[in-house]
Amino acid sequence: MDCIFCKIIAGEIPCYKVYEDSRHLAFLDVSPCADGHTMVIPKKHADAFAEMSPEEAGALFEAVNKVSGQILKRMDGVTGLTIGMNTYESAGQTVMHTHVHIFPRFKGDGGGTTHSIVNSAKSADPGYLKQICERLTCE
Ligand code: AMP
Ligand code: ZN
Repeated sequence: MDCIFCKIIAGEIPCYKVYEDSRHLAFLDVSPCADGHTMVIPKKHADAFAEMSPEEAGALFEAVNKVSGQILKRMDGVTGLTIGMNTYESAGQTVMHTHVHIFPRFKGDGGGTTHSIVNSAKSADPGYLKQICERLTCE
């Protein structure tokens, strides 16, 4: 498969590795948005988060939790984190191998919040929210 992250996992492309276990790898983004910008990926290829099983997704976030703790402890001046995933093209995913971005945040860094990513909601009308809620309710 022609997947750049699978090639990193296979050791065919180098990376700045910060964490590895039997199922996950974490490495620095080569085009960082902040110092310490790190990505956590599953070793088993999945195009996107929605295609992972609940168990795989849970394990991935255990690794994210571990790496996040290390960043908070060890990055000079870090005072927060933004954690996120671009899932599928409409959300800006460019590498089609699931990855979780961890962006270290620093007081006054000028960055936005997750609320600044998109502002396309048609309405916040209670009737409309109820309709959406019914559609999205899952077991
Ligand atoms: P996304 O836009 O969410 O798909 O993020 C993909 C990220 O992968 C981007 O932030 C890239 O800078 C990063 N990236 C691409 N190739 C590499 C690489 N070889 N090593 C580390 N990060 C990479
Ligand atoms: Zn892959």
